Amino acid sequence: MNKLVLATRNAGKIVELRRILAETGVPVELVGLDAFPHIGDVAETGLTFAENALLKAHAVASESGLPAIADDSGLCVDALNGMPGIFSARWSGAHGDDKANLDLLLAQVSDVPEGRRQAHFACTAALALPSGEEHIVEGAMHGFLIREARGTNGFGYDPIFVPDGESRTTAEMPAAEKDAISHRGRAFRALAPVIAQVLA
Ligand code: IMP
Repeated sequence: MNKLVLATRNAGKIVELRRILAETGVPVELVGLDAFPHIGDVAETGLTFAENALLKAHAVASESGLPAIADDSGLCVDALNGMPGIFSARWSGAHGDDKANLDLLLAQVSDVPEGRRQAHFACTAALALPSGEEHIVEGAMHGFLIREARGTNGFGYDPIFVPDGESRTTAEMPAAEKDAISHRGRAFRALAPVIAQVLA
């Protein structure tokens, strides 16, 4: 079976992509970066989700010698001209401090009135081959920001984001329900046929 590396050490992402690939019937064995301890973290120096996803996918494809997938994602707030965007994970300064990032964002949009609080999560997924061949797909989930955190599922900005047509935040939705409409779910599902075609 074809082996494919997902450029992450996040077990949740690996399980999610494995489930999506299984649903679409693409016959691949997906492994995470834990299977390659010698591959270090790739600096996300790009200016767009696509640049960052490609940087990671190409680095891992060339170091592992296998086709590699990487994703980059974030929350884009209309009233902040699309920010935090690629800076979502480090918006408050410290990388991955979800609570500080969320609190800072809430403060920044505190005077933005109802009806002007639109935002979307964006995800770009890249597939790179050791030959240098590359493919990009995108997914988005549109919604709006509420004023106080609600829910304990998910991570990051989930407790303050309500998808369009929903009354719950994504932190109040079961994981499978969020996956069905999420930016990452959509991007990964769009990637499945590309993987099937490239590995055929
Ligand atoms: P990364 O793509 O794993 O680097 O994630 C970037 C950052 O975007 C995360 O640290 C979160 O702050 C935010 N983010 C991305 N996807 C989600 C999501 O599904 N829910 C909440 N926050 C997210």
